[in-house]
Amino acid sequence: MAQDFLSFVNQIKSERPDEFVSVSGEIDPAHAITATVVKTEHETKKRPVFIFEKVKGTNFKVMTNIHASRHRLAMSMGVAPREMQKKFLYAMENPIPPKEVNTGLCKEVILTGNEVDMMALPQVVHHGDDGGAYITAAISFAKDPITGIYNCAYNRLMITGRNTTSIHLTLGKHLWEFHQTATAQGKPLQVAFAIGVHPAIALGALSIGSVDEDETHIMGAILEEPLEMVRCETIDVSVPAQAELIIEAEISPVKTVEEGPFGEFTGYSLGARDREVVEVKAITHRKDAYFYDMNVGHLDHMLLSTIPMEANLFRAVRSMVPSVKAVRVPSPFTCFVSIEQRLKGQGKNAIMSVFGADLYIKRVVVVDHDVDVFDDRQVNWALATRSQPDRDLVLIKNARGSDLDPSTAGDDGFTSKWGIDATAKPLLKEFTPRHKFSEGVWDSIDVKSIIR
Ligand code: MN
Repeated sequence: MAQDFLSFVNQIKSERPDEFVSVSGEIDPAHAITATVVKTEHETKKRPVFIFEKVKGTNFKVMTNIHASRHRLAMSMGVAPREMQKKFLYAMENPIPPKEVNTGLCKEVILTGNEVDMMALPQVVHHGDDGGAYITAAISFAKDPITGIYNCAYNRLMITGRNTTSIHLTLGKHLWEFHQTATAQGKPLQVAFAIGVHPAIALGALSIGSVDEDETHIMGAILEEPLEMVRCETIDVSVPAQAELIIEAEISPVKTVEEGPFGEFTGYSLGARDREVVEVKAITHRKDAYFYDMNVGHLDHMLLSTIPMEANLFRAVRSMVPSVKAVRVPSPFTCFVSIEQRLKGQGKNAIMSVFGADLYIKRVVVVDHDVDVFDDRQVNWALATRSQPDRDLVLIKNARGSDLDPSTAGDDGFTSKWGIDATAKPLLKEFTPRHKFSEGVWDSIDVKSIIR
């Protein structure tokens, strides 16, 4: 599979040309880009890939919204939409290590020292209350200071100067942990950010698992070949060789700066907080590189992150309840699970598995396999008719959740969590039967002869 961004873009262009919108008139990256994409979707129900050819204040073209469709994501994985979870799980279980190459598209232009200028990049301001221009599609590549195992993640970067940004490290997650370790050693954490990558690489970066699971190997498994990685110019980190643009940097062990406010996937604009400082050492990019902007908080962002999250949760529940049928993350911090419950108590075990596998999840609903977790109405029906709160509610106090959950504001992600076992008790086969039609009658009715 071609690993560069443009090959995939060209594949969509040739196979689905109607899914491209090229905007030739000049656009102001402050506020207008995100609003244009979201308003287009609201008014036309379409989710094309956008290319903004002329962006005020920069020579870079901006591309966004490529992930805002399940079939485009499936295309990037080389499977049909309904096969995505299966392929993702296979990739997690059959990782392929990367291979080091000498050069790649990301090295066509190399800027170091005084040539580094973050202000030359598109200064995209996404929502009205944002504290400044943000880079939302930066995938971090960093090594565990002790084991050397890579971690990759999306981390938002607020541009604060020619060679500085701030970074939001999710408290308690892997990159934050690496930074804690480096700080204890009195060292900055070297990190590179890739912007504009094949969506298979983007999906792999969002894989959730143990700190010892190397996301670069999962990227390879989704690509079905080793990810080509090339050494950075100024730091001891390697990055996807065919990326559009790379930022080489260090996260300071000591410096902090005000970061935010920023409108996030939660649908809220959380206020400014003190966060770590990123010192940029180099920018390298393809000639005529596209600057990819993640349309943060909207479908481009939500669809991309949900696939890896659901795959991981499915894996976790399956390790405890082998008869799990489906897992869905329908909205922030929420997980619906359906299981074919064979033994009493498996519903509660499924709840525990979800909480054990994902920092963000705060609310879990477990239903029987006759309930479609992709239909909110059915899940609500099961909640109402198969659960008793005093018996089926699991409440966990004082746990760690998302530091972007506004209901924990002031306590940065210190949260309680709840799960409801909405499976029929003691087991579905012994529960009050559902109403049904007499055998043969349903088939004998000819609706077309009645409704003309
Ligand atoms: Mn990781």
